[in-house]
Amino acid sequence: MTNQEIWQAVLGEMEINLSRANFITWFKNTFISTIEDGKIIISVPNIFTKSWLENKYNKDIVLALENVTKNKILEILYKVEPVKKQEAQIITSIDGLTASQNQVNTSLNNNISNQPIEKQVKTNRFGLNTSYIFSNYIVGKNNQLAHAACKAVAANPGTTYNPLFIYGGVGLGKTHLLHAIGNDLAGQNNKVLYVTCEKFTNDYIQAIRTGRAKEFKDFYRNIDVLMVDDIQFMGGKDGTQEEFFHTFNELHQTNRQIIVSSDRQPKAIPSLEQRLQSRFEWGMIVDITLPDVETRMAILETKCKEKNYSLDEEIINYIAETVQSNIRELEGALNRVVAFHQFNQTTPTLDSTKDVLSGIINNFQSRSISPKTIIEAVAKFYDTEIVDLIGKSRKKELVVPRQIAMFLMRKEINTSFPTIGNEFGGRDHTTAIHACNKVGLEIKNDQRKKQEIESIKQLLYSI
Ligand code: ADP
Ligand code: MG
Repeated sequence: MTNQEIWQAVLGEMEINLSRANFITWFKNTFISTIEDGKIIISVPNIFTKSWLENKYNKDIVLALENVTKNKILEILYKVEPVKKQEAQIITSIDGLTASQNQVNTSLNNNISNQPIEKQVKTNRFGLNTSYIFSNYIVGKNNQLAHAACKAVAANPGTTYNPLFIYGGVGLGKTHLLHAIGNDLAGQNNKVLYVTCEKFTNDYIQAIRTGRAKEFKDFYRNIDVLMVDDIQFMGGKDGTQEEFFHTFNELHQTNRQIIVSSDRQPKAIPSLEQRLQSRFEWGMIVDITLPDVETRMAILETKCKEKNYSLDEEIINYIAETVQSNIRELEGALNRVVAFHQFNQTTPTLDSTKDVLSGIINNFQSRSISPKTIIEAVAKFYDTEIVDLIGKSRKKELVVPRQIAMFLMRKEINTSFPTIGNEFGGRDHTTAIHACNKVGLEIKNDQRKKQEIESIKQLLYSI
């Protein structure tokens, strides 16, 4: 196993316990420089990262390294070392976007901020991850419609479903699908642009600040296929929404394709302007839900093939049964099993697999869910303050999340009705019973509501 493979496995573990933002901030551009007799030198891009890793994450890194290598780590040193310019980091500045470049690319100042860094992402000149393609995307009941809609858009951009709105919880394959469409279309003289919502927002703010608003508009309104990932982050950003609204109109009127992804349906994005919400509803809205065990097995089999690695069916079955949360974590578990056995040059057995995964599995289980974490997750999802959620207000935008939080307390951790009432500022237990019955009934009849609650559960288990 190479240093790079070891580090990838370590990053896979670190990612599980960190928020995406923290993970990217502290682990981007880090790598193992040398390993010798239990002493490891890790290269980091700057002094801030060095001090954070030393002070905050060192213990976890040691544990992860020991888990992956099954060897004792005696010492870790963090060394500031400039990153080698990697193929993945194609920088395209706004100045570089001249008419000669008729096949656009990445984004204004492309960085690959939304892509899983542990994979050492290979991007092509369009800034698209070349391994996110249709042919390695497994279709199950959970993503059938989303997949079909994306294929249709890739075959006939701008005409079939415009805009296409894809939503679903984290790690379920939204970004993969966007890149797959992009990869299909990028070669065909189309100006294809994939951006994260964060990137779009930052570019816009930057353009305004530097007096380059016109260039920004010209750039974005001149794209043939615009993909904006994780659009839920646009909620509450009024200036950006306004700009996106006009970009949207301009592209849509001239039959250019817009595809957006989100962790929830348009209606459920907090502080999203009504007019944008209704634009998103013009086209096709598709969701991706959690995959069933057969789909999870099929995904594992494909990933093994890609790695040229074979695992017995009972092992695949065990991993698929054990890791149910999402596909990113499923892949993480598989990577760990493969990395461990490659490193030790042993053949995986069911027992050794259980052993390797025990750390992760305990990890999943020890994420203790309490009424407080449920309130926190619901508040985060609906972008409300915790005090308001448990407070007295009867406003609809608080009542609905409040009832959902009550429902989740009952459903996920079997909290008693009086305790639920107490958690919400001393409400009566009959209020809690009413809320749980109401939400329980709603999700039977309303697919979207059901999906929304699935997304909150995902968030809950990833906090
Ligand atoms: P999201 O954007 O919804 O958070 P991603 O697209 O980043 O999720 O997917 C997480 C990981 O899972 C990626 O490595 C992706 O390739 C993989 N993945 C997700 N869905 C599938 C699928 N149906 N088939 C194969 N791989 C998948
Ligand atoms: Mg994504």
